[in-house]
Amino acid sequence: MFIVMIASECAPVAKVGGLADVIYGLSRELEIRGNDVEIILPKYDCMRYEHIYGLQKVLHDLWVPFYDQKVHCSVFFGFVHQRKCFFIEPHSERYLFDRGLYYGHHDDAERFAFFCRASLEFMMRTEKHPEIIHCHDWQTGLVPVLLFDIYKYLGMTHPRVCYTLHNLKHQGVTGEFILREVGLDNTGHYLNQDRLQDNFNSSAINLMKGGIVYSNFVTTVSPQYANEIMTTDQGFGLGHTLYEHRNKFGGVLNGIDYDFWNSEIDRNIPYNYGIDSLDYKFGNKDELRQRLLLRRDFKPIIAYIGRLDHQKGLHLIKHAIFYALKNSCQFVLLGSSTDHDVNDYFWQLKRQLNDNPDCHLEIGFNEELAHLIYAGADMMIIPSLFEPCGLTQLIAMKYGTIPIVRNTGGLSDTVFDADTANKPFHERNGYVFDHFNEEGLESALHRAIGMWYSHPALFRELMINGMKYDYSWNSPGKHYVNIYNYIRE
Ligand code: ADP
Repeated sequence: MFIVMIASECAPVAKVGGLADVIYGLSRELEIRGNDVEIILPKYDCMRYEHIYGLQKVLHDLWVPFYDQKVHCSVFFGFVHQRKCFFIEPHSERYLFDRGLYYGHHDDAERFAFFCRASLEFMMRTEKHPEIIHCHDWQTGLVPVLLFDIYKYLGMTHPRVCYTLHNLKHQGVTGEFILREVGLDNTGHYLNQDRLQDNFNSSAINLMKGGIVYSNFVTTVSPQYANEIMTTDQGFGLGHTLYEHRNKFGGVLNGIDYDFWNSEIDRNIPYNYGIDSLDYKFGNKDELRQRLLLRRDFKPIIAYIGRLDHQKGLHLIKHAIFYALKNSCQFVLLGSSTDHDVNDYFWQLKRQLNDNPDCHLEIGFNEELAHLIYAGADMMIIPSLFEPCGLTQLIAMKYGTIPIVRNTGGLSDTVFDADTANKPFHERNGYVFDHFNEEGLESALHRAIGMWYSHPALFRELMINGMKYDYSWNSPGKHYVNIYNYIRE
């Protein structure tokens, strides 16, 4: 099968969060299964170009309709760790993708609406006829709308569209002018409850809703989250739309790429280890301490890696830091935010704790350090308000690091409490708490720290249980191929 992925991120070249890992990992798995996969991305100035091999311009003169004009674009091709990627570069005075940041600009909706139109224009111009177009999140929600209302009539009758929702908090709610911008002129037609009209604001359009309504199949990234967004306020207004389209909607748990996230072969850590050589993990703990100037002491290291977003439970992360320090643990945080206030807040916290030999806060994005933390830490906290799938707990488990998570979304689907899970002990792999408050978090942290100090043998068993789980792309890859086959029929 020929599959084209259209997305705003792809690891490790353009990564903000889990979306990037999914685009890379799923594409790789689909290729292993014998499919031909191409990925279309914007050509951002801030990408990690050192991860693109053989980058070359393959199209000099792509003209993309935008309002009444056409924008001149170039298209580049390169391999991102063997994945075939096309990068679209608009030569516009507005520097759509040359802004030093992936997201967070006032005209993000316009930037990515343009990217949708440009991707389809590129496919038509180069006569690509994939069986499947797989697009992701609000940034590419207009792809199926443009395909079925414009490009189908220009000869692109072949592709079916699978659309994956990675996070319902960001839906691309914007003005209807965006539609005219990309050539969907009959705005009255789209500003309708059954199409793109936002469910809260009747004068706005919702790009994610467009993706849901127009695609042949819609997935989200875990079964539990699929249920939550259809039946609770986690749908942020799209629950009803999903319910109406429930016959073409389901949750497929994300995987992680075990070529990249694997303690046995990871080149970013000094000591490789597996279940049979677990003691080497502690060489990484020493290395992490040295690198972050933490003291060597008989204490567990608790870590947090992730975006610093309210979704992630910022007040609970802060609480966990102080709780850990009070309870004879060390704490390491690696995180960043596009929100200045949140960044300032964590910088202040960092300054306050700067001289503490048991704590290090690293504010920023650092892929290599992330690998060392997964390998060197003993526990990883993920106290999210909501979590569509969550990859950090899956990665942590592969590195024998115990996840301590809130009972929500994909965290519920993948972490099974050491004390209370309805499973035999050998299937338990972490600590889970229900309530999104300090007491809830403490109930799990307290048990985890107690186990580390008082029952090291059991703690080690729990680590091994987690390492034995198969959260690779193998099973989700199979699911996606089934979905693609289903919508092709
Ligand atoms: P989300 O998609 O909500 O950001 P996920 O848990 O699905 O959360 O994915 C997070 C991914 O991003 C993981 O691969 C994690 O290691 C990585 N990550 C997040 N923040 C950072 C950071 N500051 N530095 C390095 N990697 C990070």
